[in-house]
Amino acid sequence: ARPVLRAVKMRKHFPVRGFRSDKVVHAVDDVDLELYAGRVVALVGESGSGKSTIARLLAQLMPTTAGQILLDGEDATARGRKSFRRYVKRVQMIFQDPFGSLNPVHTVRYHLTRSIRIHRGNLKGAEMEAALDELLDRVHLTPVDRYVDKYPHELSGGQRQRVAIARALAADPDVLLADEPISMLDVSIRLGILNLLRDLRDRLGIAILYITHDIASARYFADKTLVMYAGRVVESGDSESVTQDPKHPYTQLLIGSAPDPDDMEARARGARGEAPSLVTPPPGCRFNPRCPFATDLCRTELPPLMDVGEGRKAACWGYSDRPDRPELGSVLDA
Ligand code: ATP
Ligand code: MG
Repeated sequence: ARPVLRAVKMRKHFPVRGFRSDKVVHAVDDVDLELYAGRVVALVGESGSGKSTIARLLAQLMPTTAGQILLDGEDATARGRKSFRRYVKRVQMIFQDPFGSLNPVHTVRYHLTRSIRIHRGNLKGAEMEAALDELLDRVHLTPVDRYVDKYPHELSGGQRQRVAIARALAADPDVLLADEPISMLDVSIRLGILNLLRDLRDRLGIAILYITHDIASARYFADKTLVMYAGRVVESGDSESVTQDPKHPYTQLLIGSAPDPDDMEARARGARGEAPSLVTPPPGCRFNPRCPFATDLCRTELPPLMDVGEGRKAACWGYSDRPDRPELGSVLDA
């Protein structure tokens, strides 16, 4: 099968503000990514690694610096007005903070009817009511009467996120970009939202990009996991093997050095050293200053994502056949 949405060597460099500054922030560099119908891909990585930038590029909320975005194999960045409208209908985004993305002065009905009108046309009377019913039913906000005339502040965080998801579904999307959709919610209701998204994946065949700090939830929810470090994908593979048998020293550190096994952010902070500057990234592998196994090769040449077997990839010279490759060991003992 062919991916619904595909990024090829996608790049985003933000100019650094300042007098005659020609410096840029290397937020996303040469990222390849493929989303398939009915499959979930997780994007994990510590704060500032470029996850939200990838989502915003894929949603076409801003232009790429380089690379391609392909929807059904067709270049989606070559913008005609009409094709752009079609794109934003098919590729919907949901955000971390449903309170921030819903307008506090409008009811659930307003938010949903507006989205239905934009994406499906101006349905009238009974037709519109039926569409509202169907959307709220999809996200399990039933009985519909209990929710449809509520304002955002009258709902719980989880209910607000369900409304945000229903609004995205009004577009009948093929792709859902979910940027930390549960991280602001109560721990007790997180699973409910992930199960809802999983249900949409299975019943509607939607392709989902799931962005998270929490690799445990990626393992639970995602078919495939990509690990980001400083704007680059450093490891990819099916979620189970990436979390059970991480290949890249960074992923190993992330999974292994946790004070709290459920909190990847704490893990990232606990890991030795700081994330590198994205304005002047270290030459070679961006992880080399923090890597206990780094050699001259790692300090001078950027490792490509290499096949490491079983459909898995890692951007680490340790998996190459270069004679000057580093000898990998146990990160946690190093
Ligand atoms: P978090 O987990 O904290 O949400 P993230 O992985 O989503 O982090 P991004 O928000 O994509 O990270 O940011 C990646 C890098 O790009 C950061 O260094 C950030 O400061 C920078 N950045 C993001 N947006 C802009 C912008 N509009 N202008 C300049 N730099 C930006
Ligand atoms: Mg983010």
